[in-house]
Amino acid sequence: MAQAKLKSGSDPAERRRMKEILRVLRRTYPEAKCSLDFGSPFQLLVATILSAQCTDARVNQVTPALFRRFGTPEKLARAELAEIEALIQSTGFFRSKARALKESARAIVDEHGGELPRELEILTALRGVGRKTANVVLGVAYGLPGLVVDTHVKRLARRMGFTRTADAGKIERELMEVVPKEEWTELAHLFIAHGREICTARIARCEECPVARLCPKIGAR
Ligand code: SF4
Repeated sequence: MAQAKLKSGSDPAERRRMKEILRVLRRTYPEAKCSLDFGSPFQLLVATILSAQCTDARVNQVTPALFRRFGTPEKLARAELAEIEALIQSTGFFRSKARALKESARAIVDEHGGELPRELEILTALRGVGRKTANVVLGVAYGLPGLVVDTHVKRLARRMGFTRTADAGKIERELMEVVPKEEWTELAHLFIAHGREICTARIARCEECPVARLCPKIGAR
């Protein structure tokens, strides 16, 4: 296991290292983007809530029927819980997800005039919406800076030596120090693509990794 001293995000050398990593990953994954299908910011919120403990591919299988039936906050807020549950069952934890969807939709209608809010704090006040989900919506649907820290971003940030913690909130702040605001959304897409392809949870394939020379490989196996 490689060991490396963690440097501060305000260290210019760390900013340069991250810049170079992103440059290489951008070239490696030119198509990296959010892989959830959606037709509106609200539908992206729904898909992201459903993606907890579930693959994006599976979510994309259930959302067409769900959005046909309940594609707006107004329709979802009025839906029967049992009907939502039946439509999203295969995504797992479907009872709590159905409740989160219905209650979020109701809050959007009752408290925000049917418009999905654009502020992190207001989004995270919705049921079932954590910082990760809120940042997906801000970054992908609204083009606002949002740094998504999901399981891939967490793992890669640790292996690449940009953090030592497992706390998503702290990792988000640490990464924000080394990456300019306008690249926060892209960083998540690139790390997620790399985490699926090469630096996976099961194995880090360092010998074929395009950023190996820039990575301390902390805890990689
Ligand atoms: S695969 Fe290895 S070299 Fe590449 S990012 Fe992961 S730990 Fe670093």
